[in-house]
Amino acid sequence: MEPFRYEKVQGIPVTVISDWLKESPTLAAGMSAGQHYGLHREQDDPRAVVPNRDRLARALGFSLDAWTSATQVHGKNVVRVTRAERGAGNRKRETAIPAADGLVTDERDILLTAFYADCVPLLFWDSDRGAVGVAHAGWRGTVLGIAREMVERMKREFGTDPGSVRVAIGPSIGSCCYEVDDRVVDALKEQIPDLDDDIVHPKDNGRFMLDLKRANADILRQAGVENSRMSVTNFCTSCEEWLFFSHRRDGEKAGRMVAWIGIRKDES
Ligand SMILES: [Zn+2]
Repeated sequence: MEPFRYEKVQGIPVTVISDWLKESPTLAAGMSAGQHYGLHREQDDPRAVVPNRDRLARALGFSLDAWTSATQVHGKNVVRVTRAERGAGNRKRETAIPAADGLVTDERDILLTAFYADCVPLLFWDSDRGAVGVAHAGWRGTVLGIAREMVERMKREFGTDPGSVRVAIGPSIGSCCYEVDDRVVDALKEQIPDLDDDIVHPKDNGRFMLDLKRANADILRQAGVENSRMSVTNFCTSCEEWLFFSHRRDGEKAGRMVAWIGIRKDES
């Protein structure tokens, strides 16, 4: 079953990880959907972005002050967010947490966010420790092992048990639409020595169809995450034009989805 369910929260189109939300009344975890609700400063009408973020944050039970973003650089740097970083990047790009593609926190009332237009959203939830995380994994982040870095960082910071942490792999480009060259495949072999046809499928033209979601799932398994604790989407951002932006499909003009995770202050 598709773990990311499309719905509207107070009129805003989103996809949410329905099983997780069923289990926890204070958790928010999902990704924006639809083409007409701009949330990204560079890609959308800048006058609309802050009010849209404010409306979304409130619809999720947070405030704009809780919205926290980093400047993403396709790296594997993971930052622990505390009260001091809460709200970074919410109104102005200049205040975003610099150069990080992963955010983790164990504090409530912080909404961790990251942006995507084909890259893989990784959402982490440790219900035992009340800790959450979000990561942005394009092929560069994937081959650098940001998925593994997230697990290790949560273990170090919060005592997260890799065997019990939940991970959702969100809407991103599918192997149906993601053709890459051997440069990418060679780099991926560093992270996944026994790369199989399920992850990288060779084509007649000497190139490959890559399944970035499976690649990240494989790296997560190597890091100790249980198969049964992973929820992997079936959505391909390039195929699902009515729901998602796609850089491969739309080129430079592509908008961005935002993924979020956070634990609200109190039950409401
Ligand atoms: Zn596709």
